[in-house]
Amino acid sequence: MDNTLKKTYKVKQLMDGVYGITSSAVACYLIVGKEKACVVDTAYGFADLKAMVKQITDLPLVVFNSHGHIDHTGGNFYFDTPVCISEKDVEVYQRHNEPSFHRYMEKSLKVFNRIFFWRILVPKHPEETDEGRMNFNNWHFVKDGDRFDLGDLTAEVIEIPGHTKGSIAIWFKELKLIITSDGANAATWLFLPESTDLPTYIESLHKLERYDFEQILTGHSLTLFTRKDLEKWIEVAEHPGLDHAKKEKGGDFAPGVLPLRVWAKDDVKHKGPSIVIDPERIKVNG
Ligand SMILES: [Zn+2]
Ligand SMILES: [Zn+2]
Repeated sequence: MDNTLKKTYKVKQLMDGVYGITSSAVACYLIVGKEKACVVDTAYGFADLKAMVKQITDLPLVVFNSHGHIDHTGGNFYFDTPVCISEKDVEVYQRHNEPSFHRYMEKSLKVFNRIFFWRILVPKHPEETDEGRMNFNNWHFVKDGDRFDLGDLTAEVIEIPGHTKGSIAIWFKELKLIITSDGANAATWLFLPESTDLPTYIESLHKLERYDFEQILTGHSLTLFTRKDLEKWIEVAEHPGLDHAKKEKGGDFAPGVLPLRVWAKDDVKHKGPSIVIDPERIKVNG
């Protein structure tokens, strides 16, 4: 395999036919069915993700973006098939894939490359692929309940607004698996300009509960979460311990916002999951 690919992407098999691909602290997934394979998210696009996927399967691909953020969409342009996304997040894609935003992210990632020097966290000339990202518009807009047949498996879209307005989860019924990416996880960011209010996020979590699944995969680790974890995420969102919250930095993600990291009311030692919210938008839609 190409050395750049090997140093940029790390592949780990998580279940039968399910692979986690990590790159610069982001996780994307490859689910291989009998007739088609499915790619959920495309990371920053720091190396040819399609070539990486082709090392594992030669099947035709269905590609999804869980949402429009830079770290889950930057590699879209490597694929020649349309990328499935909620139309509501196209604006986020465009804003996040401006060269200036990529330079901002690369700057913070470069610091870690000094520690993980054997991996490529940021390529030498990331600006060489700016044009591909900026010009990408090969979209296929998806909605709640849209299904994709992979042969023995189906991938179904679940709209879960919260982290962004157009966040989607992908449900693999036969695997009893839901990939939520950043849309629902152990530290969901809800303070961004493109985030919804807290009640909308809570509704999305309860919606997920109604699906038949046993495991959840998220956007920044390869941990297999369970239904019990989802219950804990609901607990944090429904009973946030605002009196023991911590201030966070929003940076260029949310200029002018002073986010708070909040744990569940009873979790005063901060051992469990958290959410990061804009205190101004706990109840009212922003
Ligand atoms: Zn992310
Ligand atoms: Zn995100």
